[in-house]
Amino acid sequence: MVGSVIAASLAEALSFRAETGAVPLAGGTDLMVRYRSGTAAAPDFPWPVVIISSLPELKGIFQSGEGVCIKAGTNLAAVESSGLVHPLLREAVHLIASPALRNLATLAGNICNASPAADAVCVLCLLDAEVELTSLSGSRRIPVTDFITGPGSTLLRADELLTSIWIPPLPPGIPFYRKVGTRRANALSKLSCAGYVRVEGGSISDFRYAIGAVAPTVVRSGDLESHLCGTDAAGFTAIRSGVREAYAALIRPIDDQRSTALYRRETALRLLEEFFSLTLEELA
Ligand SMILES: Cc1cc2nc3c(=O)[nH]c(=O)nc-3n(C[C@H](O)[C@H](O)[C@H](O)COP(=O)(O)OP(=O)(O)OC[C@H]3O[C@@H](n4cnc5c(N)ncnc54)[C@H](O)[C@@H]3O)c2cc1C
Repeated sequence: MVGSVIAASLAEALSFRAETGAVPLAGGTDLMVRYRSGTAAAPDFPWPVVIISSLPELKGIFQSGEGVCIKAGTNLAAVESSGLVHPLLREAVHLIASPALRNLATLAGNICNASPAADAVCVLCLLDAEVELTSLSGSRRIPVTDFITGPGSTLLRADELLTSIWIPPLPPGIPFYRKVGTRRANALSKLSCAGYVRVEGGSISDFRYAIGAVAPTVVRSGDLESHLCGTDAAGFTAIRSGVREAYAALIRPIDDQRSTALYRRETALRLLEEFFSLTLEELA
C-alpha cells in the first residue's frame, strides 16, 4: 500500500487525509474486494489508504435528545444487536452479508460506498437519517438522501471523514422491510424496500416508503407520501392505484449480473402493493 497509515486517533486520520487525500478503510469489505490482487494476497490500492477501523472516537451507539447516534466505525454486528437502534434498521443490517462480514463491516462503509444496492441506505433514507462529516476545520450534517448523489458518488470532501450517523426518533407505527436476493446470506440485493405507516384516528398520519436498487439512488417521494397522509380507508382505496402508477414512474431499474430491469420493476411494484394492503388493514 503506497504511503498508507493505520491511524491511532481521529485527529491523525483527519490530518493524514487532509495532507494526502488518502482513502479511508473501515471494515474493508467493499474496498478489499474491489482492489483484490489475487487469492489471499494483499490488495493493490492505487492510492494511499488511512485505516480507521480501530479508532475509539468512531465506536459506539448513543441515545441523545436528537435521537440515536451511531458512530461511524461501529460494526454492523453491534448495530444489529443494539436495543437503541430502530427495528427496521436492525432487520436490514441482519440481512447484510453474513455474521463474519458483519463483524468487520460498518454502517459508514455501506453509506460511503454509495452502491444503489446498499441495504442499510434504503432504511436510513426512510428514517430521515443524517450523516455527520468531519474535517480539521469542523463538522457538517447532511441527510443521507442528499449525501449520496449517484452510484459510487457522495458529497464527502477529500479532507473529510464520516464520523456519525444520526437517526431521529420515530413514533410507533407499522414497519415493513423486504430484501430480495438470490439466497439468504452473502447475497447483494436485487432490490430492497422499506415502509412505515402510522394511523391515528382512522387516517394516515405518517406514510413513508423507500425502494433500493431500482434507480441510481434510493427512491422516496415526499410528494406522494404527503398525498397519502390524512386519508382514511375510503380515501386510500380511491387513490391507491394512481399512487402505484406514480411510484412506477419513479422506478428506473437496470439489467445487471444480479437481476433484470423487468424483474426488479415487477417485484418492486408487487411489494408496494403488499405494503398498501398492510396499510389498508391498519386503516380498517
Ligand atoms: C461477501 C459480501 C457480501 C456482502 N453483502 C452485502 C449485503 O447483503 N448488503 C449490502 O448492503 N452490502 C453487502 N456487502 C458490501 C459491504 O459489506 C457493505 O457495504 C459494508 O457495509 C461496507 O462497510 P466497510 O466498513 O467494510 O467499508 P469499506 O470497504 O472499509 O469502505 C467502503 C467505502 O466507504 C468509505 N468509507 C468507509 N468508512 C468511511 C468513513 N468513516 N468516512 C468516509 N468514508 C468511509 C471507503 O473509503 C470506501 O469508499 C457485501 C460484501 C461482501 C464482500
